[in-house]
Amino acid sequence: MIVWGSGGDVVQLGAAGTHDCGTCQAPREYRHLLNYRYAHIWYLFAWVTEKNYFTACAVCGRGRRHDSGSFERQLGRVPIPIHRRFGGLALLGVAAIVAVAALAGTRFSGHRDAQMLLSPHVGDVYTVDLQALVPDGFGRHAWGLMRVTAVDGDDVTLQVPSVGYSRLEGARRNLGRQASDAGYYSTDSLQYSTAQLQRFRDGGRITNVHRR
Ligand SMILES: [Zn+2]
Repeated sequence: MIVWGSGGDVVQLGAAGTHDCGTCQAPREYRHLLNYRYAHIWYLFAWVTEKNYFTACAVCGRGRRHDSGSFERQLGRVPIPIHRRFGGLALLGVAAIVAVAALAGTRFSGHRDAQMLLSPHVGDVYTVDLQALVPDGFGRHAWGLMRVTAVDGDDVTLQVPSVGYSRLEGARRNLGRQASDAGYYSTDSLQYSTAQLQRFRDGGRITNVHRR
């Protein structure tokens, strides 16, 4: 669940002398102040959505609004807590780190799969596009798991599963205990060369190699 919301605050920035107030019709003390609003996610990641600097009558609150840029230059600082100004950037930073880590993970596992296809082990389970590896075996397009039962030099023997799924996720869900159960597979086997297996992987027909 994402908790988001908004808030606001008034920051007093000191006295601004005594001036005649047109609204109060009297000399009044004036103050500099900042009125700002911010939005937040989880209260951690925040950013400023609006800010207005004023010099206003301390009694009626009427006064004059300033240009934010020039007022901040005059002030020499931005009087908003840093976590409300740059929290949004922190969120972007976290999102970027997550994206980079996910990408690196995908690259890494892709590299690992390629290595495992080059040196297959008996018991490896491949998540495959059955239409490509077992043409005409499943009536219509299906994803499934194939298991290595023999490796003879460059030739790899794969068991054909007895079930296929219309979605890749369906096949992936069987990667646990079911994939190592003999009853999961039919009695049919097919033979491929390691070069063919690499081509299937490059073409996205073998999406994953699972090794215990
Ligand atoms: Zn006033």
